[in-house]
Amino acid sequence: MKTPRTKKQFLQQERNIEIAALYLKGETLDGAGAPFDLKKEMVRRILLRQGITPRRHWSKAKPKPTPEEKRKIKEVRFWMGAALTADPNRCWEWLKYIDRNGYGRASWDGKTHYARHLAWEIYNNKVRTGFILDSCGNRKCINPAHLKESADKTRKNRG
Ligand SMILES: [Zn+2]
Repeated sequence: MKTPRTKKQFLQQERNIEIAALYLKGETLDGAGAPFDLKKEMVRRILLRQGITPRRHWSKAKPKPTPEEKRKIKEVRFWMGAALTADPNRCWEWLKYIDRNGYGRASWDGKTHYARHLAWEIYNNKVRTGFILDSCGNRKCINPAHLKESADKTRKNRG
């Protein structure tokens, strides 16, 4: 999944995720598009772009989201927790829980993590081996452009 770069992209992605969620809950193509004044064909295209193949009309089976679809929805929900900006120099401040040390925290798979760790891992699509440090000095920041993995795996450089 691409990280939204502009406010417009962000809002559009948010809308598309809502449409996907409605559809996966059992709405028809028309029903999923209705809150956004979108026609069936547009909804179909939005779903396909998110890797969801619309079911045939005669099928009564409700589609269950695939693990890949669930993951995408989770990732977008995660990015929605920060104030994203189009300017790569600016910080993406975490808007949800901030711990007593000033770091953003997010839950993922039922556990609480540093939001910056999740941001780095989601963005780079790999599991970190070191700590994640910021280059901007902003503890709330999760902008992947401001985060780098520490080569030093000891706790002293924890970021
Ligand atoms: Zn920053």
